This record gives sequence, structure tokens and C-alpha cells, in this order.
Amino acid sequence: MNVNESSCVVNPKVPVVPVELPDFQKAGVRLDLLRLDRVHPMISGNKWFKLKYALEAVQDSACKRVLSFGGAWSNHIHALAYAGRERGVETVAVIRGERPSLLSDTLVDAENWGMSLEFVSREQYRNKNDELFLQQLRAKYGDFHLLPEGGSGEWVVNGCREILSLCVASDYDVVCSACGTGGTLAGLIASKPKGLEVLGVPVLKGGGFLYQDIRRLLQQSGVDDPGGWELDLDGHEGGYAKVTSELAESMQQFFEATGIELEPVYTGKAFLALQRKVVRGELARGCRVLLIHTGGMQGLRGMRETLLKKLKQSREIS
Ligand SMILES: *Cc1c(COP(=O)(O)O)cnc(C)c1O
Repeated sequence: MNVNESSCVVNPKVPVVPVELPDFQKAGVRLDLLRLDRVHPMISGNKWFKLKYALEAVQDSACKRVLSFGGAWSNHIHALAYAGRERGVETVAVIRGERPSLLSDTLVDAENWGMSLEFVSREQYRNKNDELFLQQLRAKYGDFHLLPEGGSGEWVVNGCREILSLCVASDYDVVCSACGTGGTLAGLIASKPKGLEVLGVPVLKGGGFLYQDIRRLLQQSGVDDPGGWELDLDGHEGGYAKVTSELAESMQQFFEATGIELEPVYTGKAFLALQRKVVRGELARGCRVLLIHTGGMQGLRGMRETLLKKLKQSREIS
């Protein structure tokens, strides 16, 4: 354990923690972790920033109901259910797949917080933005605001541009975050000081489409793309929610060194991609890196078994 939590100047709830790991020390790269997993006990990580202005707009409108989409372990759905309850906004979630006899922990929480769950087949889910389907949902639940899967839209840049104000951004050369829809990265890009490079790690296979999506999000919020950002398209480990032994091993190393947990769907992949870059010598000696812990720890509940299995496999091999 070589972590001393230097309490953050701006918000002591969201500490910036120095991380000391052999690979980084050997390469002369300084690593700090911005712990958005601490931003709120329930609305963890980047979802707090992503939902903030979307829900504010809903509260200010006549219709106080939101409908969104997600899978059984979705951090977005989990955060939306809680944030909606806190703000007096009714929430409905369309969930991919038939209703199982045993709900995931995520969906149990969501229902307890008053969210209505609508389970649909995978095929129906693929056509989730069809007007006819949405009409049926309006007939069933009443009128609603539609929040896209993952919760990204033009409001997201405004929320996520507040993330870097939680630390002294000018102290860093590189900031790194996992990407799903790219909304969080767009916020980082929109608010970064000149000279700070933004590195995004898409967790989906074939995440190159995110270059366009991120530029569109910036444009929609009236931000000129400042450049100085890129995506590492090789950090997905086989695809969304796929876990490799190397990923499990790297997360375990991180935990042993810091006492801080990552999860394998987002934050673990961002860390592994960064670690590989450092090992390949792609970051200059003296480089100061900020890794964003985007939260999502509630989803870890569904991944523990897989992680343990992968970790065992990797330790049997070596
Ligand atoms: C949703 C999520 C992301 C991805 O955020 P985007 O804005 O969609 O790119 C990253 N990390 C965690 C933990 C998440 O839950």
C-alpha cells in the first residue's frame, strides 16, 4: 500500500490519489487517479455528470417522466433510477432481453427506487428507436422524455466539462478515460487546458465511429474541436464486457498497489490500455498522467465470478 490520499483542493469528496506502480515508476511516468467513483454514494462516477443537466431540463418541463434503455447491469440505468427518484422524475427503462426469474442486482435496485422496467426481446431492442415502438410505450406509460442508451446528448458535454474542475488540470500532460458513447470524453475535450492531451479508450470493439460521434457532440454544444485528443482502439479486450486474463491480472495488480478497485467493463480497460502504453515506452519520462476512475462499481457485482476465473487461469499459466 503506497497510497496517501492527498485530499483534493476543489472537492474533498472526490480525491486525487497518487498511484505508484513498478511499470510506471520504471518509465518515469507519474500517475494520479481522479476518483469519480466517490462523487455520490449511488450515482457513481461519470453518470452523475452525464445526467445532471438532462434531469434538470426534465424538472423544468411539464412532463416529468424519462424513458431510457440499457442492459441488465447498466450503470446508466442504475444511476438514472436513483437520480430520478432524488429529483422527483419518474423513470422507465427498456431492458434488453426477456425478464429473468432472478433480476440482476442492478435491476433490483432500480425497481426498489421506483423505476418501471419494460423487458423486450433482443430483436425488439435493436429497433428501440422505431416510432411505432415508442408510441406503444407512450400508450402504456404516458408521455416521456427520451434519453438515448448510455445517456449521451448535447447536454452531456455541459455536465462532463465540470469533471476537470475537480482537480488542477494544468498539472497534467495526459488525461485518460474509458469511452462508451464518448460523451464523457467530449466533456473532457471541451474543458481541457491547452497542452493537456486527452486519451480515450473505447470499450467496444471497432470504436473508431466514436471519432465522429465525439466531434458531433462537441459541435452540438457549440465547442470548436481543440484537437489534442485520440482514441486507443486496441483496448477493448475482445468487445463490450469481455474479460481477458490480462485484464483481470492488471486490475488485481492495481488493487494490490492502491487498495482501490476498478471494474472490468470500463475503468479496468482504460487502466490496462494506459499501462500497455507505458510499458511500450510511448509516454515520455517525466510525463504526468491523470486517469479518471469513472465509477461503475455497482456493475462489478455481476462480474466477480468471471474475474476470479480469469485471474485463476492467468496464475495457472504463469
Ligand atoms: C458509462 C460509463 C463510461 C462511458 O461513458 P461515455 O460517456 O458513454 O463514454 C465509462 N465508465 C463507466 C464506469 C461508465 O459507467
